[in-house]
Amino acid sequence: MSRKIFKAIWIAAFSVFLASLVFIMGISYNYFSSLQQSQLRNQTELARQGVALAGKTYFDNLSAENYRITWIDAQGNVLYDNEANSARMENHLDREEVRLALNKGYGEAERYSNTLADKQLYAARLLPDGSVIRLAIVQKTIWTLLLGFAQPISFVILIAFVLSFILASRLTKVIIKPINEIDLEQPEQYYEKENYKEIEPLLRHISAQRIQLKRDQEQIEKTALIRQEFTANVSHELKTPLHAISGYAELLLNGMVKDEDVKPFAGKILSESSRMTRLVEDIIDLTKLDSGGAEMKWEDCDLYRIAENAVDSLENAASSMEVTVHLNGTTAPMKATPHLLYSIVYNLCDNAIKYNHHGGFVQVSVTQDKHNTMLAVKDSGIGIPEENQERIFERFYRVEKSRSKEVGGTGLGLSILKHAVMLHHGKVDIHSEIGNGTEFIVTLPNAPKEAIP
Ligand code: ADP
Repeated sequence: MSRKIFKAIWIAAFSVFLASLVFIMGISYNYFSSLQQSQLRNQTELARQGVALAGKTYFDNLSAENYRITWIDAQGNVLYDNEANSARMENHLDREEVRLALNKGYGEAERYSNTLADKQLYAARLLPDGSVIRLAIVQKTIWTLLLGFAQPISFVILIAFVLSFILASRLTKVIIKPINEIDLEQPEQYYEKENYKEIEPLLRHISAQRIQLKRDQEQIEKTALIRQEFTANVSHELKTPLHAISGYAELLLNGMVKDEDVKPFAGKILSESSRMTRLVEDIIDLTKLDSGGAEMKWEDCDLYRIAENAVDSLENAASSMEVTVHLNGTTAPMKATPHLLYSIVYNLCDNAIKYNHHGGFVQVSVTQDKHNTMLAVKDSGIGIPEENQERIFERFYRVEKSRSKEVGGTGLGLSILKHAVMLHHGKVDIHSEIGNGTEFIVTLPNAPKEAIP
């Protein structure tokens, strides 16, 4: 960057100098040209007066170094010329300045010499006797003038070149220094400071990016921690039924179980292994949901129908708890991912049965308005203490661990539900009172933007 700035300053300074030089030279040239012209006019007038007074004798002692003086009679014949033999000179009537002088009393003209390097300025005046006195002067063209000044001009250009180089390198250092001194860890400290006004938007951008990076970093660390905890919990949750299974199997193998106990032991092995199966299934579901919307396949489905299926498949569980399940509502068509909707209803109804009293009830209702579909699952169960209501959606969080295990809970059901609801852009509300039961209300949009192709 410093090379670029340096180059730009150097080129700019040098160009400004060259432009000024050309400009000044142009002005000076014009000034001297007009000065020369007015001098020529004056000299012509003087010569006219001299000739008018003294006639030909005027030329006798004349020393006109820079001027050429020609005296021409009314017919155009040259009577006198200070630089050539007048007798041999051609008729001058056709000369523009002579013609003008004869007609109007005064005439001026300019002509280039054969080489084009010089320009002749002419001025002619009419005398009372009808003759014309003409003066000529050589005016150098701007190119000959430049050629004459080539040496000093080159010298000045060289000095300007070097000076602009030094100026550019100094300025570059002055500009770059504050930028190099910026502490990018704390760009905020330079806001509103004189030296940094121009780069303040850049500093603000850097600061915003730093904050974003920090947040992302924190998020990554948090996610890593959650994963770590999850892995530890999973291993722990799997270990418990595995220990039980291998313990019972070992006892059976060693023949340490009485014949009448073989059946109950096999039953325990079966129930522990189905607990493991449920756990593994829940973990698989949760892992899939964790990977974001990859699981989402938006289809036309009916929440009421899905609720019917879920309630049906929980019939055995409900009857073993002596819990009655009522479903009411009407058809509720919506865009959603059917298997996730099913897991939402299933998990809520499963919990409502599991954490209920014997002889209790579960009320499932599906309602729909213009924008949303609502699923409410209300039970007459044990209720959830206020302080635990936020946390029950965390992985493996159970209000009462022993009760959850006893009823075959994995501690993952509500985590899965929360994820599924989030992926449908919905929300979950809880109303619960200890001893009086719980109501979960899930609200889902009928057709999220994402679902419309
Ligand atoms: P679990 O497999 O243990 O049921 P969940 O994630 O489904 O795991 O629920 C987390 C915890 O929330 C449960 O262990 C239970 O303590 C509490 N819970 C969930 N639903 C209810 C409910 N309807 N009534 C009382 N407690 C509930």
